[in-house]
Amino acid sequence: MRRTGIADGATAAFFIDFDGTLVEIASAPDAIVTPPGLAELLADLTRRTGGAVAVLSGRSLATIDRMLTPTVLAGCGQHGLELRLPGGASVAREVAEMEPIRRRLAAVSVDWPEGVTIEDKGLSIAVHYRAAPQAAERVEDAVGRAVAQAPGTFRLRRGKMVVEATLAGASKGTALKRLMVEPPFLGRTPVVLGDDVTDDDAFDAARAFGGTSFQVGPREGHRADFEIDGPSGVLDLLRDFAQGVTSSERTTA
Ligand SMILES: [Mg+2]
Repeated sequence: MRRTGIADGATAAFFIDFDGTLVEIASAPDAIVTPPGLAELLADLTRRTGGAVAVLSGRSLATIDRMLTPTVLAGCGQHGLELRLPGGASVAREVAEMEPIRRRLAAVSVDWPEGVTIEDKGLSIAVHYRAAPQAAERVEDAVGRAVAQAPGTFRLRRGKMVVEATLAGASKGTALKRLMVEPPFLGRTPVVLGDDVTDDDAFDAARAFGGTSFQVGPREGHRADFEIDGPSGVLDLLRDFAQGVTSSERTTA
């Protein structure tokens, strides 16, 4: 059933998460391995859809660009705080707004155990504890208290072995809605693929445009329409679309 219910490449617009969706999650964010041919596959898919392919990531767009070089996609970084419209125009919030929370997390982080790493992405600060899972509660508590100092300005976001302090007011869902009013996304049927809690906002947004969503890998309580086992299944699906396989030719197992 994983390939049913999606528009064809000619009418679909793709919104694709990066970590855990296009690539397997690694022990540290900079340890991920980009599969060979991924950038080319996304470039093929972009041609096939008339440019309607976007990445929706929690990483910065600069990092995504580096990992997909030479392919540059429209989409959002830092959970919607950075937005790149088709054609390259960017909309981003002011990095200086993050200064109070940056200072506070730097101060408390001296007490965190080895293995906890802070990733400052400019408009969001992620604290990763995959290498020190025993620190989960402590880290989450500290980030929660930092965010609570200015509720409404900042928000806390939980992911897999990561907790983030970000500026409030954006999500992958708001990014999808913003892109869907721009050609070549406008009038197409959104197809969203993602693996984590933050992708649920995009799944909901796709539904509002009559689109389809896929949860990648197991996750309790996800709000997607369908499930795909993992990144290799995602790449198979995208390859079919990029090659123009029609829905009647697709398997429905
Ligand atoms: Mg992900």
